[in-house]
Amino acid sequence: MVKSFYFSRLPLIYFGTGKRGLLPGLIKKYGDSVLIISGKSSFLKSERAERLFDELKKSGIRFQITTVEGEPSPDVVDSVVRRYSSGRTDAVISIGGGSAIDAGKAVSAMMYKKESVQDYLEGVGTKDHSGSKIPFIAVPTTSGTGSEATKNAVISRVGPDGFKRSLRHDNLVPDIAIVDPEMTLSCPSDITAASGMDCFTQLTEAFVSDKSCEYTDAFALEGLKAISGYLLKAVHDGQDIEARSGMSFAALTSGICLANAGLGVVHGFAASIGGLYNIPHGVVCGTLMSATNRITVQRLRTAQQSDISLKKYAQMGRIFLGKENKNDGYLIDGFLDFLDQLTDELRLPGLRKAGIREEDLARIARLTENKNNPVKLTPEDLLEILMIRYI
Ligand code: NAD
Repeated sequence: MVKSFYFSRLPLIYFGTGKRGLLPGLIKKYGDSVLIISGKSSFLKSERAERLFDELKKSGIRFQITTVEGEPSPDVVDSVVRRYSSGRTDAVISIGGGSAIDAGKAVSAMMYKKESVQDYLEGVGTKDHSGSKIPFIAVPTTSGTGSEATKNAVISRVGPDGFKRSLRHDNLVPDIAIVDPEMTLSCPSDITAASGMDCFTQLTEAFVSDKSCEYTDAFALEGLKAISGYLLKAVHDGQDIEARSGMSFAALTSGICLANAGLGVVHGFAASIGGLYNIPHGVVCGTLMSATNRITVQRLRTAQQSDISLKKYAQMGRIFLGKENKNDGYLIDGFLDFLDQLTDELRLPGLRKAGIREEDLARIARLTENKNNPVKLTPEDLLEILMIRYI
């Protein structure tokens, strides 16, 4: 029997090369005065930006532009809201990586509210967000986070008492996602690798999550096939538009999966490390993915209780090894070895190299949540994972 499930809303999705050209017409659905939020440089300095702004002007759309640097903090979101909430804004448009999209998602949700976004963050604030917001359109320029299809915005404050937490509500799923793979062509290989590993982690964690269902599995498997075909190609040849398209598809799909099946321990680490250190999210996920999955599989094997999860690891082995007629044990071990090789091939820095102090490892393990992992890992397991990657 098909398991019962709950599936939250999706944005209107426009996927394909050149689809960014639809933006002016789509904005018109909401009005003629918009706020554009982008990263500090990549998009705004490109010819694509000039062409888009010309089109917006020709369409009679008034726009203001603001930029965000790095992963968004409450102060960044609050200051954008303060700056623009006295005027009329018919919609917020984010054009950028996950950071710009999350900043825009949070701004659209906070635009006419008096409080700080921090008051509404899970595990940090005390207030529940009502879900009211102004229209929000997401145009991703990295292939990784899938934030163009999720209902949360990740906001962090980095420091000794830092946090990396979400503003979340079903209504915060962007109204429209324009996923144009050409927007990612300018991503350098290290950002392609890190954001690609975020996406791979999201698909894997959602697939084996204890909240997964047949519906999310169907999405996750298609996303994983795209990762298998295109992650390395996109990293090694950034101009390969077929590979970029495959990765844009994988990222969008990973967002749909995470919004509905949740994430596991690697993202638990990303939250605890992200509150303490300024290390790119995708780097943290990528560097810990292999060791975390290996320990998870070891614990699943000893627990002998979650045959379904091990079968899913074997399914991933089938996709990534391209071998059909092998037994599950072979496929699972092959998948784990593949993850090790990928970590090396993508030159993902270890935790020491990324700047983490050894004395913080125990604290990170203590702070890391185990949500949705197919088997509960102990604090000792978590510390072991961190030690394996402390290179
Ligand atoms: P990012 O948005 O921080 O961008 C990384 C760097 O890449 C920046 O310097 C940016 O300017 C640059 N960049 C972006 N697009 C580019 C392009 N086309 N060409 C050249 N440079 C480009 O990185 P990200 O990995 O996309 O996003 C990470 C953030 O997303 C983190 O804050 C993470 O927590 C969050 N996240 C959110 C969700 C969600 O569901 N809301 C899911 C996963 C991750």
